[in-house]
Amino acid sequence: NGARQPVFVLVGGTGDLAMRMLWPSLAMLDQDGFLSSDLRIISVAREDCGTDVCVDRIGEAVQKRVGESLEAETLSRFRKRIVHLALDAAHDDWGDKLKAELGDIDKLDIVFFLSVSPSLFKPICEHIERAGLSKAPNRVVIEKPIGRDLATSKIINDSVAHAFDESRTFRIDHYLGKETVQNLIALRFGNIVFEPLWNAQSIDHIQITIAETVGVGERLGYYDEYGAIRDMLQNHLLQLLCLLAMEPPSAITSDALRDEKVKVLRSLKPITAENVQTSTARGQYGPGFADGHPIAGYEAEKGSPSNTETFVAIKAEIANWRWAGTPIYMRTGKCLPSRSTEIVIQFKPLPHSIFGAEAHANRLLIRLQPDEDISLTLMNKAPGLTSEGMHLQALDLSLSLIKAFDGNGDGKPPRRRIAYERLILDALNGNNAQFVRRDEVEAAWTWVDGIVQAWTDTHMKPQMYPAGTFGPVSAFRLIEREGGRTWND
Ligand code: NAD
Repeated sequence: NGARQPVFVLVGGTGDLAMRMLWPSLAMLDQDGFLSSDLRIISVAREDCGTDVCVDRIGEAVQKRVGESLEAETLSRFRKRIVHLALDAAHDDWGDKLKAELGDIDKLDIVFFLSVSPSLFKPICEHIERAGLSKAPNRVVIEKPIGRDLATSKIINDSVAHAFDESRTFRIDHYLGKETVQNLIALRFGNIVFEPLWNAQSIDHIQITIAETVGVGERLGYYDEYGAIRDMLQNHLLQLLCLLAMEPPSAITSDALRDEKVKVLRSLKPITAENVQTSTARGQYGPGFADGHPIAGYEAEKGSPSNTETFVAIKAEIANWRWAGTPIYMRTGKCLPSRSTEIVIQFKPLPHSIFGAEAHANRLLIRLQPDEDISLTLMNKAPGLTSEGMHLQALDLSLSLIKAFDGNGDGKPPRRRIAYERLILDALNGNNAQFVRRDEVEAAWTWVDGIVQAWTDTHMKPQMYPAGTFGPVSAFRLIEREGGRTWND
């Protein structure tokens, strides 16, 4: 933005998200030379700790997160950029106080990052607007949850839209900042080999799993209102689905990409009371052992009965020419046996096997967590002699991104970037391609609301699964019901 001085205003600068993710991301961007030398960072929070104490806490948080990778010189430069303001953002005059700190606002290019509860977005944006701080090129970054259904998401989006138009509203889905998630676009549209096979004719089904080993912990108050479908599926799982299933965009520009993503969401076949029992599974963890600890179970942690699911699995279908008839199985949950995020593209069997049953169908596995790698299972001739015919053996053609990009050549894997680094950099640069557009949020909620309504209409309660197992029995039935399919556990 020409000669304007960049300013990053972090509202909620002393909070958990800020300390664990945002400050470390900013510091690493500074170290890697991505922050303009004149960038100022203003932390806004209720805590009246003063800039010195606040900056010390930030320094500790950054050390804790990126310790070894951080150079002392970076930290001292980074600390000098920061000013902390103790303000109650729900109070009337904070916009003016902020303005007084900012100086000549016409010479600034401000990114407001709201790392606070969405219930504060409205008063905060009103104050920003009233103080004249919401004009272009200034923009706002907001975090999930963007509502707990379509109606509440509209209220939140409206409260921001009054101050910032859509092109200057950056909705974070931190999965979009992950290297391997970005790589899905490169894999699909940077290679010619996959795209001709990327359809219902060649693909039997797709599986997307986001498994967590942890329970709800201290987030119980929030989580009990949301559950797995709202907390993980409406946003992260559906974003992964969009990138996998979308048509090739005509360019890698933000609207071309997001136009294609929203079409996928709008093509999702509604799940209704008629098919909800065979298309979804709901679970809640009970007593067991997960994440290295004995677990008392969700209701025991809550201290009262709960109808909230901590696990959800869904068989989705995309009603368009490319995907009609290809089931897409998605699942996510807490207190599962392993922490992993992976996508399985299961290809169809050969139309005619000259090798009998030895020829297994090809499978592409894209793993995002714990390690980032891609492997394609191919059939090979088993080496050696046989007296009759040849035998086949499945082998993986694999691409370990960590090994492939050992940038320093020191044998150590390169530092894994925090997803927020890319997203903050994009927000500073005004590039909103990896942020979620309002129509995407609304299309995703429309589909999810239908499922939640069908659960209510059919009184479908979560089934208990022991902590440390891969969800309730119904989740296995969901996939096993059809043609020998199983989860990739
Ligand atoms: P938190 O409660 O730890 O921190 C909230 C921050 O906001 C604190 O700095 C607090 O001082 C500040 N704040 C609260 N009310 C304020 C007011 N009236 N005026 C000025 N400052 C005020 O919350 P968090 O866990 O950091 O989460 C922040 C947001 O990010 C929430 O919307 C949350 O849902 C979302 N989020 C958090 C995480 C996470 O891992 N913590 C992950 C995804 C989304």
